[in-house]
Amino acid sequence: MIKPTESQLRSEIIATGQKLFDRDFVAATSGNISLRLDSGLFLVTPSNMSKGSMKEEDILVVDGAGKVRFGRRKLTSEFLMHRRIYERRPDVCAVVHAHPPIATGFACAGISLDQAIAAEAILALGKVPLAPYATPGTPEVPESLDPYIGESGAILLANHGVVAYGRDLAEAFGRMEIVEHYAKITLVAKLLGRQQILSQDEIAKLMGARSAYFK
Ligand SMILES: [Zn+2]
Repeated sequence: MIKPTESQLRSEIIATGQKLFDRDFVAATSGNISLRLDSGLFLVTPSNMSKGSMKEEDILVVDGAGKVRFGRRKLTSEFLMHRRIYERRPDVCAVVHAHPPIATGFACAGISLDQAIAAEAILALGKVPLAPYATPGTPEVPESLDPYIGESGAILLANHGVVAYGRDLAEAFGRMEIVEHYAKITLVAKLLGRQQILSQDEIAKLMGARSAYFK
């Protein structure tokens, strides 16, 4: 497989930022995206800039200590959260953080998306845990996430938003999309007043299929 160039990866981040913006997953300057490079450095979106209007030169190159190695803009304070996920998950090379309104509504209501009602969401995500509230941009955020990073591909951040991650940007963004879609489905099921939870047997079958898929 031909490795993408850094310029191609920057373009991928910009396209993902545009999708976050177009789908109302972020507003104003919120949200952030990062990629782990083979060199051990990271490509990271800047703070205080709309994710729908970034250019290649706006994307920063950052080292593991959080120092900007290349780029003129300011690093997002949420890099601490991204870095913790990369530290805990060597398989992860892309992290996306956003505030998709329905999933964030669940996070604000203190409701995790871990009830087994939609088979394909379980297959794609496993459970989506809810990490306790921490002040955005502070070292409290990685601490609040830490216990959940290993078990999922997406986490709800209480009273804040969602972080999703994967082997590449397509997988991380896809998980963000599925979380929001799953939140919509769950909301409708709650509005209808009935949630038919899958049986333990059926969940075990899905988890078995999931681990075979992600091997
Ligand atoms: Zn946020």
